[in-house]
Amino acid sequence: MTESIDTPVTEFGPGDNFAAAAPPVVAVVGRPNVGKSTLVNRLIGRRAAVVQDTPGVTRDRVSYDALWNGRQFVVVDTGGWAPDAKGMAAQIAEQAELAISAADAVVFVVDTNVGILDHDEAVVRVLRRSKKPVLLVANKVDDQRAEAEAAAMWNLGLGEPHPVSALTGRGSGDLLDAILDILPEAPGEILEEGGPRRVAIVGRPNVGKSSLLNKLAGSQRSVVDNASGTTVDPVDELVEVDGTVYRFIDTAGIRRKVKEASGHEYYASLRTQGAIERAEVCIVVVDASEPLTEQDLRILTNVEESGRALLIAFNKWDLTDDERRRYLGREVERDLVQFGWAGAVNMSALTGRHVDKVGAAIEDALEGWETRVSTGKLNAFLGRLVASHPHPVRGGKQPRILFGTQAQSAPPTFILFTSGKMDASYLRFIERRLREEFGFHGSPIHLSIRPRE
Ligand code: GDP
Ligand code: GDP
Repeated sequence: MTESIDTPVTEFGPGDNFAAAAPPVVAVVGRPNVGKSTLVNRLIGRRAAVVQDTPGVTRDRVSYDALWNGRQFVVVDTGGWAPDAKGMAAQIAEQAELAISAADAVVFVVDTNVGILDHDEAVVRVLRRSKKPVLLVANKVDDQRAEAEAAAMWNLGLGEPHPVSALTGRGSGDLLDAILDILPEAPGEILEEGGPRRVAIVGRPNVGKSSLLNKLAGSQRSVVDNASGTTVDPVDELVEVDGTVYRFIDTAGIRRKVKEASGHEYYASLRTQGAIERAEVCIVVVDASEPLTEQDLRILTNVEESGRALLIAFNKWDLTDDERRRYLGREVERDLVQFGWAGAVNMSALTGRHVDKVGAAIEDALEGWETRVSTGKLNAFLGRLVASHPHPVRGGKQPRILFGTQAQSAPPTFILFTSGKMDASYLRFIERRLREEFGFHGSPIHLSIRPRE
């Protein structure tokens, strides 16, 4: 079997400014069977085979990157979700609410052949409350005749219905144009105003990544378990943790264990790398019940070098006894000193122990990652530091820090203008003091030295 990995249109490299680069998000909502998934396939312009005819295979909120007329946006498909018959309207509304809260614009799909049902009305109420731009799609208008029925959708009070046949593509070009029209001009700013933050769960095989994802997602909705052989490949998932919606990156790679006969390791590490680069914050899961491995360290180093915020999940805590914990403490001191700034949670994805702390820890790491220090404050601090702890004299000269500025956040990046080269140990000292003074918990810091010679 060949593995089809959906390569996102948007590729972020280290150092990219996420706030500026983040494409706007369009959520496709509506009751089951109106054709949301079929429409999403149209919008993303490829046959990702997301339409499921197999009952019992539940997909969940899934996002895909789309490109139209040179503009990128993300389409969130809520189509794979099948509510119970009981309290269906309420469940649909709740589901829609979650998707809408994370979106910049909403495509609301109704089935022209069936007309408006109570369940549609439930979503309309949510849409009105949300105040997000909405595009009404009258789907299954496969031919001219059905257009008259589409006009009846004006009744919903959501403006002009756009007649479309997701199945044949009829009207989909006009729809894409209309979507671009309602997308925010400067989507980057929207992200800063509360678009979903990107989280990657990474770690070597069997440490409990998928268990953690399931635990985090579990309270909100059913677990996605793709039957083998299906072509469903959700790349990212929106999951609500403590009332905040996050975009979990490349959950496909977590949920379905990619098992190629050869090159498995290579693909796994490639996938891990990709997930780290697309994320803002990474949860590196390690197995606390076993000795730390080279691979754990490689992944941690990778996160640091990519400049992402970091949370270390010491998982399988339920399997550790006092002796193992003592030994782990020594391992952490010896091998993880360099990541002393990272957040850590001792947890069990199996029992649920401290999984409730993950949400706050993610927020903490993101806060540290985005911390900005004004030039005034920074130089006042540097002035005091240099006065009390000057750089050692080297070759008859004493290099001094003349001026500093924070060039970037996410991750915090400082430029120090100095009168000469600085010892690595002195730079480590400065980093330590910067952290003591300003926080940056959970985030790597970059120091760049510009010696004036
Ligand atoms: P979802 O549950 O809203 O995601 O709906 P699906 O995309 O799974 O579609 C439900 C059914 O409607 C499938 O059998 C589709 O083939 C069919 N369908 C979707 N769009 C159209 C359309 O434009 N015309 C017709 N005739 N059928 C459609
Ligand atoms: P992944 O390969 O990193 O996604 O790991 P999985 O989530 O599939 O977990 C691998 C195995 O470890 C499964 O048998 C899980 O049930 C088990 N597991 C995961 N988390 C824990 C935990 O906190 N405690 C214990 N005892 N087992 C766990």
